[in-house]
Amino acid sequence: MLLNQKYEIFPTKEQKEILERWLYYCRHTYNSALLDKQRKYKQSKESYGQTDMQKQLVLDKQTYPFLQDMPSQPLQEVFVRLKKAYENFFHKNTKYPKLKKHKEYNSMTFPQFGFNSEGHRFAMSFSENGNLYNTKIGEIGILLHREIEGKIKQLIMKRQGTKWFAIFSVERQASPVQVDPSNAIGIDVGLHKFAVLSNGQEIENPRFLRKKEKALKKAQQRLSKKKRGSSNYIKQVNKVRQLHSKVSNQRKDFLHKTSYRIAKDNSVVVVENLNIRNMVKNSKLSKSISDAGWGMFRNMLAYKCEKNGGLLIKVEPSYTSQDCSECGNRVEKSLSIRTHVCSKCGIVLDRDYNASINILHKGLEELLVTT
Ligand SMILES: [Zn+2]
Repeated sequence: MLLNQKYEIFPTKEQKEILERWLYYCRHTYNSALLDKQRKYKQSKESYGQTDMQKQLVLDKQTYPFLQDMPSQPLQEVFVRLKKAYENFFHKNTKYPKLKKHKEYNSMTFPQFGFNSEGHRFAMSFSENGNLYNTKIGEIGILLHREIEGKIKQLIMKRQGTKWFAIFSVERQASPVQVDPSNAIGIDVGLHKFAVLSNGQEIENPRFLRKKEKALKKAQQRLSKKKRGSSNYIKQVNKVRQLHSKVSNQRKDFLHKTSYRIAKDNSVVVVENLNIRNMVKNSKLSKSISDAGWGMFRNMLAYKCEKNGGLLIKVEPSYTSQDCSECGNRVEKSLSIRTHVCSKCGIVLDRDYNASINILHKGLEELLVTT
């Protein structure tokens, strides 16, 4: 199955102009193919398919030589988009395809990436410096903040506002069952509650566990006051050990049950890709994080999702608690602020609930091909 991984790229001013021009050529090709198709249908009721469009493109390239300034694959891929737009119209009840305006056409697709089997570069590939490379535009800087997991099948270059992004569609091991993106859930794990789900459900840390953990803490304090090696010390060590294994078994049991239920009820589960090792270094957070067993929870989820034919997606945690899940507005807030109040759209949500929805959206963005 294909998943998207998105990275910001940093074209120079000149490169931005080239990318804008390429996008313009793509949009222009899309619109003229659409008009040709409509005209043909009005005149003779004949269909006008991808092969006809390809032929027309060859002619257009002779009439408008500037079309040859850009790689031809993204230009040809335009016809795939048009075909999809018609399919969606016929089968999914979307609107009839119409001409695209500048604002509505923001991406181009390179259906191949890297090197072919003979070692030749496709239109887009990585340079030796690890940047994006094409002969007509040169090297474009890219920030690979996260490892690309899997084999790159295609690249979408996308304009968002004034920024540009590279979206790689990577192939991961196929699931035995087709995953269902409409049955997806985002999970925000936290310190206050164990987790908040994007359907609004909150999962508390079980009370019995908190009680046992308090008892364990006390037993550990008592141990620290005993004289090392004394018989009382050894007695207390055993007590601590017993309590410890009880707590850890009960915690595991809780994590198993919770992850089982979530994996069973959802086809796609999205969590944050937290670097637990780094977070545990922060001493204030460390106790509750290691106690909550987030890392273990995530591993259990991954395993159980796979077993059920579902999918676990890990997303970057940046801004998930700051951004408004309703309108995208960024609302800066410190850890102590528990409610998300958006100054732009006015929505008021529990902080973690808002985050869980953002996590879900980020995950779905990886799952669906965004053009
Ligand atoms: Zn908002």
